[in-house]
Amino acid sequence: MSTRPPSKTAEPTSRPPLGDRAALAYNWLPRVGSVLDLGCADGYVTAYLRNRAAKIVGFDLNFTDVRAAKGKVGGTHFVVGIAEALPFASASFDAVLMLDVLEHVGNDSHSIDEIVRVMRTDGYLILSTPHKGLFGFLDPENFFLRGKSGTPRPRHRHYSVTDYKMLFGDRLTVTRTHRGGLLVFPLVMIARKIVHRLMARGWRIPLIVRDVIERTVNVSYKINYGRLGFNVMVLARKLSANAASVGVPRPTSRALGSPQP
Ligand SMILES: [Zn+2]
Repeated sequence: MSTRPPSKTAEPTSRPPLGDRAALAYNWLPRVGSVLDLGCADGYVTAYLRNRAAKIVGFDLNFTDVRAAKGKVGGTHFVVGIAEALPFASASFDAVLMLDVLEHVGNDSHSIDEIVRVMRTDGYLILSTPHKGLFGFLDPENFFLRGKSGTPRPRHRHYSVTDYKMLFGDRLTVTRTHRGGLLVFPLVMIARKIVHRLMARGWRIPLIVRDVIERTVNVSYKINYGRLGFNVMVLARKLSANAASVGVPRPTSRALGSPQP
């Protein structure tokens, strides 16, 4: 596996620019042989990975999203499935991206087990989720979405770096941490949700408004607020079996980050 620093050139120009978490993850990802984009949705990030890896696999739960990704991103293998049972051989990938997906999976512990299994030794995991920060209670996904009965239905679990380390145990070591976005981030995300809903109802929202929202989200995500931040991203490396054996014992499976209202 090559770990040369990423090239600053030859970025795709015909695609929408990567924003907030995607931009940071892309900057963190070194050039590798193979990468798994776990929770690839419509291939928005996957499309950029050609500049980072020779072999790219996009993976998502949602069949419609995967079909859309197949139509948009050439030279990439896309697979439908769940994170708790990845249909790949052990040690298949040099890097795994999982950007704001873990907070949605049915079993986060099993999902991390599977990710570790498919990673090669010394491989990279870039993982992001909402963070247990100061303004986590303003998470628009938990704020707006309600079940059919009208009862609140939190969608997002929030995690701390300590929660991640509990899930990783002695198998992965965290080498970089970023906790971006503070109060402005969830407020602008709420504004973005309102704008999307209005547009879905036929309202014409000036481009400048949408542009300001996107720029604010991106700038806010870039600033590292430490423990207070609204989002969290880590870069973790898979340790060799020998290195892992001298680390702290991994706790048995536990439910982490129960949904926050
Ligand atoms: Zn989410």
